[in-house]
Amino acid sequence: MFNKIIIANWKMNPDNREEAEKLASLSDREGVVICPPFVFMETVLKAVKKGKVGAQNCFCEEKGAFTGEVSPLALKNMGCEYVITGHSERRNILQETSENVNRKAKKTMNLGLKTVVCVGEKKECKCDERDYENAEYIKKQLQESLLETSPENLIIAYEPVSAIGSGCPIPTYIAKDRMNFIKKVLIDIYQIKVDDEEDIASVDINIPILYGGSVNKDNASSYLYDAGFDGLLVGGASLNGEHFQKICEKIKK
Ligand code: PEP
Repeated sequence: MFNKIIIANWKMNPDNREEAEKLASLSDREGVVICPPFVFMETVLKAVKKGKVGAQNCFCEEKGAFTGEVSPLALKNMGCEYVITGHSERRNILQETSENVNRKAKKTMNLGLKTVVCVGEKKECKCDERDYENAEYIKKQLQESLLETSPENLIIAYEPVSAIGSGCPIPTYIAKDRMNFIKKVLIDIYQIKVDDEEDIASVDINIPILYGGSVNKDNASSYLYDAGFDGLLVGGASLNGEHFQKICEKIKK
């Protein structure tokens, strides 16, 4: 069992150091991981005292002639503890494949960085049905992204693309169904021994699974406690310090 975690994905925001500093201070609390753009990494690392800091991406090599890329080892050496890989915006806008995600994840997990591997149905899937084809799509993403990895340092973020940035989160019962499906795929990938696979919801596989997609202060609890996710990946709502604080209050014991 894990303490719940909330990861703030600032994406390409804000656009100046002062705002980054202010937002980091407002968002800083135990159980929270702030993922700023690289340009504000140092600013956020200085401002964060209780939470942790993560990167939204990195390269799959530690150093060398890779113009414009960011080294996972340099991130680790600066004090960054988490890395997001395979966010759908990188998969869809920047053509990142599961093979790329796999190379990055292998490197970051081996370096001891907590690695958040994002998976989720394509945008066309409105997640209003539990259809086999879309579940198979997630299974393939997981199998390819996690090829030849061990589950140490792994975190999965389940993010249906139709829900990301759309203001249309998917119903909790469907998210829960997908979470349990992901658990089963992970049990298979890592050959995890479980007592009762029939009661999958209560099986602890020791790999946190987060929900992401239009999370806000009003729906955060339902994903954390009704569906039973181990945490949340929050995009848009993490850019408003006061609103984000209200989401973070949900992980208070
Ligand atoms: C995300 O960027 O991972 C995300 C879930 O965004 P939003 O919360 O804005 O839907």
